[in-house]
Amino acid sequence: MAFEIDYIPVGDGERSGDAIALRFGNLYGPRSEQEVVIIDAGFEDSGEQLVKHINQFYDTNIVDIVISTHPDMDHASGLKVILDKMEVNNLVMHKPWDHAAEIRNLFKNGRITASGLEDKLERSLQGASDLETLATRKGIPIYEPFQGLTDFNKVMHVLGPSKAFYEELLPHFRGTPEPAKELSFWEPVKKIVDEAIQWIKDNPYIDLLDDDEDTTSPENNTSAIILFNIEGHKLLFTGDAGKTGLHLAADYAEGIGIALTDLQFFDVPHHGSKRNLSSSVLKRIKASTAYISAAKESKKHPAKKLTNALKKHDMNVYVTKGNSRLHHFNGNIRGWGAASPEPFHDYVEE
Ligand SMILES: [Zn+2]
Repeated sequence: MAFEIDYIPVGDGERSGDAIALRFGNLYGPRSEQEVVIIDAGFEDSGEQLVKHINQFYDTNIVDIVISTHPDMDHASGLKVILDKMEVNNLVMHKPWDHAAEIRNLFKNGRITASGLEDKLERSLQGASDLETLATRKGIPIYEPFQGLTDFNKVMHVLGPSKAFYEELLPHFRGTPEPAKELSFWEPVKKIVDEAIQWIKDNPYIDLLDDDEDTTSPENNTSAIILFNIEGHKLLFTGDAGKTGLHLAADYAEGIGIALTDLQFFDVPHHGSKRNLSSSVLKRIKASTAYISAAKESKKHPAKKLTNALKKHDMNVYVTKGNSRLHHFNGNIRGWGAASPEPFHDYVEE
């Protein structure tokens, strides 16, 4: 048994994104003894790169499962290219418009019809809606990633979101009418006009990650949180999930006896933003290796405060920053130089 996780660099300038390929099974045997999964594909050019990468290094054009963690463009735009150019057996994505009837009563305006709402959701999330159309045209079955969904004989297990949490968040998506009530856990970020970074001194013995409110967007908090357990090697992928989504996923895992404190690999949510993890989350989710997909020139991704916090929790942290990255177990080495882990930063963002 072996596995390979490949991170393809996404975005130019400061725009981060995710494009990840995973291959596991008998990597030295025939394709039929291997599984190939794509988790998000960044923008269109990273989608193209991902196709080339899988063709070249996995020697196949068949993808068993394509996962769209959430509908944001920096994760989902490249998936159109994947569906166009590859042979995809299954697509795992949320279909917000399919929940219109269930959430219809959660808006201030009580007269909204399910079909009106369905329309609005499809229009405001056109990219995701186009992806569904394309999959349907190609006869690719679509499954929604809700808590409890498993595949590959339970090697893949969706830990979150639950359908209930998803439908609680959905009325708060951009492009929906005004919701009847606010989310109890969500605190919209206050935009500071001149956002100059203030630096403060950090050290290994203090805890600077704040445990306060969840300020990540409702869209991000719907991200599918997916665990792969490959013969005891646990790999956790989180999209852009926020603190609330991660706590709920950890609750679910604990409830069914799955420990998340002995992970081999942790895909850090939201490009290493300081707003998506807290000390309390990091007490429940522990890994030996953490990967962060962040654009080369991004100033906020990853936050030094966050990479320091991961290191304080004993993780080796690697950041893509415009490079391809491979994490593997008994896998093929690509001839790339060894990546150096993120150092401890003496000064971090306040
Ligand atoms: Zn993102």
